[in-house]
Amino acid sequence: MQDKYFNAESSDSHNDPLAAWFLGPKAEHAGIWGEMINYIFQDYVHWRRNYFLEDPIILNRIKRREHDHWFDKLTSEVDSVLNQLKSHFPFFSPRYVAHMLSEQTLPSVLGYFAGMLYNPNNVTNEAAPITVPLEIEVGKMVSKMLGYNPQTAWAHITSGGTVANIEALWVARTAQFNALMVQEFCKKENIDYQVVLANGAMASVSEAGIQDLLHLSSDEAILLVRKLASHLSKNDEGDYYLRKLNRFFKESRFNVNNTGILKIHDEIKMSPLIYVSEAAHYSVKKAANILGYGENAVVAVPVDSKFRMDADALKEMLFNQKPENYTACVIGIAGTTEEGAVDPLRKIQQVRNDLQVEKNRSFWFHIDAAWGGYLRSLFTHPGLEAIQSVDLNELAGQYADALDVKEIYSIHIKGVDTGIQTAISWDDPELYKSFLSFPEADSITVDPHKMGYIPYPCGIVAFKNEVVTELITQKAQYISDERGGIYDVDKPVTINAVGPFILEGSKPGAAAAAAWLAHKTIPLETFGHGKIIRTSLLNTRKLLDYLQKHEALFKIIEKSLFEEEEMCANPFTFKAVYDQTDTNVICYVAVPAEWDGENLKIKAVPLQELNTLNKNLYNRLTIRSNDTKRLLHAQEYFVSKTWFESSQYAASSVKTLLKNLKISEAEYTETGIFVLRSTIMNPWYFTAEEAGKDYLMDFVLTLHSYTRGLLNDE
Ligand SMILES: *Cc1c(COP(=O)(O)O)cnc(C)c1O
Repeated sequence: MQDKYFNAESSDSHNDPLAAWFLGPKAEHAGIWGEMINYIFQDYVHWRRNYFLEDPIILNRIKRREHDHWFDKLTSEVDSVLNQLKSHFPFFSPRYVAHMLSEQTLPSVLGYFAGMLYNPNNVTNEAAPITVPLEIEVGKMVSKMLGYNPQTAWAHITSGGTVANIEALWVARTAQFNALMVQEFCKKENIDYQVVLANGAMASVSEAGIQDLLHLSSDEAILLVRKLASHLSKNDEGDYYLRKLNRFFKESRFNVNNTGILKIHDEIKMSPLIYVSEAAHYSVKKAANILGYGENAVVAVPVDSKFRMDADALKEMLFNQKPENYTACVIGIAGTTEEGAVDPLRKIQQVRNDLQVEKNRSFWFHIDAAWGGYLRSLFTHPGLEAIQSVDLNELAGQYADALDVKEIYSIHIKGVDTGIQTAISWDDPELYKSFLSFPEADSITVDPHKMGYIPYPCGIVAFKNEVVTELITQKAQYISDERGGIYDVDKPVTINAVGPFILEGSKPGAAAAAAWLAHKTIPLETFGHGKIIRTSLLNTRKLLDYLQKHEALFKIIEKSLFEEEEMCANPFTFKAVYDQTDTNVICYVAVPAEWDGENLKIKAVPLQELNTLNKNLYNRLTIRSNDTKRLLHAQEYFVSKTWFESSQYAASSVKTLLKNLKISEAEYTETGIFVLRSTIMNPWYFTAEEAGKDYLMDFVLTLHSYTRGLLNDE
């Protein structure tokens, strides 16, 4: 099957050249890294030395020696920092199965290092003539990965997903009130202008209702001013109107960036709603807060047992929205921060289509793919186009073959074959649909500093339609130059700066150099960056599989770990909070169990007791930051944690979990559930297995021993 889509050469090894891309758990590639870093530094030194050869050398050898004392002091402090840093968490290690971070790729570090020496500021072209174009190119590379047309999309680097989300909503807010400005203008000037409503019907903009104008399709809202300008320019008095339009928009009471959202809300007597699932990242509330919507504007749409947004519930809410509300934005999440869940993005898209047709309402659709965005690199291969056009439900298996995200193996414990065969794959058609529907979104957040394996700070916000840049500057070329400057409505804008269109000010050109070098040398394609993603997805499934099979493996594990002893009196097992994870995060709890014949079954215990067990387990699997005597070298594994609480997830959203854990809704509402959480990002698991070490099984055995100890007073 593979050969049909890819040449065998590129798909026959899992880890090559992946193994060249990272430093290695024991810094195996230290030699080449050192050489390259030194090479960059020497090159930089030559650059300085060759600038104005006639300039004197102002620090001669004698002078330099005078500073010895200061350099000695510096070295002592460097040593102090280095000593302190060694107590840092070992993100590089396969033993680190905790937060959403891991290794950095070699090219990203080199790019950053080179960029850092030259220190460009990407806020303006003057301060960064080299790295601004790199940033724009990175934007195009990432846009392409996301499925946007890189020629007509607009994407740039932010400090992270938080700012990217805020900016996306900021742009959406600007687009939303465009139509009200246009209406006001046309009414005042008595211009008959037709607007395309969400349901496709044409209507006079002067006669359209506020709800209609606030809920145009995003593309219509974005292009409306351009279209009106183009319409006016055809008129004899075009220049006159364009000048007026230009002035009018600056002063319009619906110019949200000047007037402020508060005044507009007073004016229209409506309040905004932002729909996002219960699993939303906190940055969505921050955005609502900062943009003046208020955090209460965020509507938590329930999730299903996989922690994906319930699209039917969303539909229900949107179809029954009150007339005093308007939709500021609907956000789908590709990779929730806690669970790695992917919302049914295609279904959400379908809800938008239905809403347009049946209710004449549309909305800005933003995807928060801060976590999962780089999974799209898996889908970038010409060979996949053939599959994309056919029914995914039928061809999910074929798809998984083509993406090479399937493995069959038998479970070994301490090198001994248990005889248990198992298959892992990333092959859910719903997931494929979600990833394939990325290009439908109006804006997307993605974090290179998460699954792009690039150093902080590096986030990206991408917009489907680059014309949004004109909304932000409100200095559109076609208006300010008046008639002569009017483009065709659909003509792309030329973007060769970043600063005028973004939220942030000064920002590191080094981040652009890092992302550029990384994406240039590890292309955002199936067998480029996709290899890292594939490793991560498959190993996550493997760990989940081990945890799910723990029950069946219990006796074998006990024998293998504690040869001489009896089986423990108080057995237990591990339960993942869902039966399948969408990306590469898993959440699970240790639960007391009892024998039911040959089988273990989960024992009902008070939730407090369950939480205490898992908190104690967590304490063994982390080092607290206030722990001054950290024994890093003796810390076997690292996990992270989270709380599932009723203030976030309604009891009805987690009912399957509660049932599985034998916890009542009342208990849950009262206490919340303490959950262990692991992100499987490390690229070395397969390579380590080849060297004889199955870290993931070793982790499960460690979990087993710790839990056994906690429950059996050992
Ligand atoms: C991490 C994350 C964010 C925030 O990104 P930062 O880079 O930490 O600012 C937003 N949304 C989701 C889903 C995330 O996982």
